[in-house]
Formats: sequence, structure tokens, C-alpha cells
Amino acid sequence: MKGKSAIITGSNSGIGLGVARELARVGADVVLNSFTDRDEDHALAAEIAAEFGVNARYIAADMSQGDQCRRLIEEAGGCDVLVNNAGIQHVAPIDEFPTEKWDAIIAINMNSAFHTTAAALPHMRQRGWGRVINIASAHGLTASPYKAAYVAAKHGVVGMTKTVALETAEEPITCNAICPGYVLTPLVEAQIPDTMEKYNMGREEVIKKVMLERQPSREFATVEQLGGTVAFLASDAAAQITGTTISVDGGWTAL
Ligand code: NAD
Repeated sequence: MKGKSAIITGSNSGIGLGVARELARVGADVVLNSFTDRDEDHALAAEIAAEFGVNARYIAADMSQGDQCRRLIEEAGGCDVLVNNAGIQHVAPIDEFPTEKWDAIIAINMNSAFHTTAAALPHMRQRGWGRVINIASAHGLTASPYKAAYVAAKHGVVGMTKTVALETAEEPITCNAICPGYVLTPLVEAQIPDTMEKYNMGREEVIKKVMLERQPSREFATVEQLGGTVAFLASDAAAQITGTTISVDGGWTAL
């Protein structure tokens, strides 16, 4: 990936950070992003630059705002690889689902991918190469109760992925979605102690019987595995893979 540049939205933690690190490891210059603008955000980019010998910078932009999504792409000078990863979750029955949470999830998890993709494609066309990789979810293919906004947004992202793939099919640009099951991110790790207490179970039992109940492998996916899947989709080996989804879910969607 030497000489290629990547923008990863929502990449100051979790999957986005894992993806940024893997793309840097294989030689890409990376732009990290989130909505905060703290010293530690910029320090993450500096660490990646020092560790992997690539250019890395952090650009603050709120992915709930369409104009900021587009500004992120322009401020970065476009990119070869766009990874739409920023996402949030809220869990509630639909008749009690707070409207502001619905709007925020649809904006961050789905609309942001519209704005960044629309802004990035002209740059990719100018460069004659591009990869749009959307981090959807097993919930882009299946549903769970109480996650109406998340499931709607992720299904929307999968649909948009197919459309962008068709619109770029005759160009050296691809667009795909990755659908992770449960991934061990700091956010998920933080839920383990409370869940252990709630169910009066040990760590392994809580992970396998409660958290990974729908994941037949009974193993979390890791951010490194997600990074590797993104790097594969960005590689020349994946040049004819477009408009599809790759599940990294330990068999969840095979059930
Ligand atoms: P995370 O909370 O660690 O990461 C989310 C990232 O998005 C963070 O960097 C956060 O700062 C950023 N973000 C949130 N709101 C933002 C905004 N308004 N503007 C810009 N950035 C914003 O969670 P994660 O698990 O790494 O999730 C990353 C993506 O993977 C999400 O789209 C999520 O839906 C998806 N996903 C996660 C899992 C899982 O089990 N962890 C499973 C399937 C899909």
C-alpha cells in the first residue's frame, strides 16, 4: 500500500484504530478522525507515523454533520482508500426510542457514508483508483430487537454499498461492506465486568454464554482481523470484488 492514502472515519478507538494501524503497517499513509480535537487524538497519529514510518495525521470532524464529513475529505486532499467506520449504538424498544438517538444513529452510521463517499469519489476518479470500504455489521444483514435505528442504518449502508459499486463498476474503483459480528473493542471489554456481576458468572462464561450467544464460534472477532479484511479489500487481489459484503462474524449469519 506504499504511496496510497487512507481516511478512516471514527478511528481514535476500536475497529477504526485497528484498521488505521493495519493499513499503516502495510505502508499506507493514514488520516485518523473523530469528533474530538484533543492532544491524545493527534498523539495517536504521531505514534502510528513513528511506528510504521508512514505519514499519519488526525483531522477532527463530526460525522453527524454532512458538511463536516465533506470537509474531512477535502482537508485530507482526498484519498485512495475510504473506510467509513464511525458508528454509535442505542438500545430501546421502537415505541420508546428517543427521536434524537434515532437521528444521531442514522446520521453517523449511515448518512456520513453518503457524504464522505460523494466527496471522495471525484478524487479517486482523478487518481484512477479507489476503494470504498464500509464497516457495516451483522446487523446490516439480520436484526435484533431494540436496535431499530442501528439495524436500519446498517441495512442502509449495505444497500448504498451495492449502488456505489454499480455506479463505479466500469472504473478501477470498488465499494464493499464488511459485516462484523461481536468484536472485542475497549467498549465491549468495558461491559464484561458489569455483565459478570449481573449474571453472577465468570469472565469466560459471560463471554461465551451471554455476549457471544449468537456467534457460533463463541469467539470475538478482533480489530486486527478487521484490519486484515480491510487491507485485503484494498489490495489488487480484491479488484473484482465489488458490491458485496464480507462477514467477519464467527458464523452468526449462517444460522
Ligand atoms: P468504538 O466506540 O470503539 O468506535 C467508534 C468510533 O466512532 C470512535 O472512534 C468514535 O470516536 C467515533 N465516533 C462516534 N461518533 C462520532 C462522530 N459523531 N463523528 C466522528 N466519529 C465518531 O466502537 P467500534 O466497536 O470500534 O465500532 C466501529 C464501527 O464498527 C461502528 O460503525 C460499529 O457499528 C461497527 N461494528 C462494531 C461491532 C463490535 O462488536 N464492536 C460489531 C459490528 C459493527
